[in-house]
Amino acid sequence: MMRINEFQNLMKELYFHQDSKRGIEKTFIWLVEEVGELASNLLLDNLDKRKIENEMADIVAWICSLANLLNIKLEDALFNKYPNKCIKCDSNPCICDSSRKNNQRNW
Ligand SMILES: [Zn+2]
Repeated sequence: MMRINEFQNLMKELYFHQDSKRGIEKTFIWLVEEVGELASNLLLDNLDKRKIENEMADIVAWICSLANLLNIKLEDALFNKYPNKCIKCDSNPCICDSSRKNNQRNW
């Protein structure tokens, strides 16, 4: 199983030369386009799991490209923001009151 760090480094190997030419803003636009494609696929009456998987993979890949351009280690960012327990209620699973919108991940 590939770690997040390894995947981000693979994206760097494969695409950093193209990503750095394109720049942050245009790379972000590609990410948004992929999110749009995921949205289109989720709105279909008959969900195509394979297509949804592909769109999710593209989104993660573009996030890695952006992180590489910004010199951010995604693995560190993820585990700092999402450690093995909810950073608000200190529990796993989270026991925050989800009926209040402000409690949903928006600490
Ligand atoms: Zn919680």
